[in-house]
Amino acid sequence: MTSLLQRVAGYARMGFLPTLAASLAGCAPGPVPIAFGADRCVDCAHVIRDKPFAAQAATPEGRVYKFDSVECLADWIGRHPDQPLGSAWVADYEHPLRMIPAASAVYLPAASARYPRAHLAAYARTSAAATRLAPGATPLRWPQLKEAARRRLALGR
Ligand SMILES: [Zn+2]
Repeated sequence: MTSLLQRVAGYARMGFLPTLAASLAGCAPGPVPIAFGADRCVDCAHVIRDKPFAAQAATPEGRVYKFDSVECLADWIGRHPDQPLGSAWVADYEHPLRMIPAASAVYLPAASARYPRAHLAAYARTSAAATRLAPGATPLRWPQLKEAARRRLALGR
């Protein structure tokens, strides 16, 4: 797994450091609106319909990629390890029209009859729901989620 420091060093070698510094200074491309029912997930090509699971990522240059699930975002990052990212955002499961930085969210399996596909739901770290866990449930953090995607892709799944 690539650590943030390794990525920063990589960016410096590639001449991206000024861009990264700019994004860390608050100039990172923010989340853009998703046209639900029209925009497609760049990873699986499904139409993005379910607001609570939407995600997006932007390159340092501001090119935006949209996803229908957190899993697709993580898989896409795993498939494009050389693509520098300026930012990655996930829908806040409790406030689906609000996007929160992927790195600051905690992830839990969504258990809802309304969404039969087993998706991960992203919660703000301070969310009461994220801290009110079922016994044995372990919230995932963004690095673990990306690592799981990387391992899954390495196994060809
Ligand atoms: Zn997808």
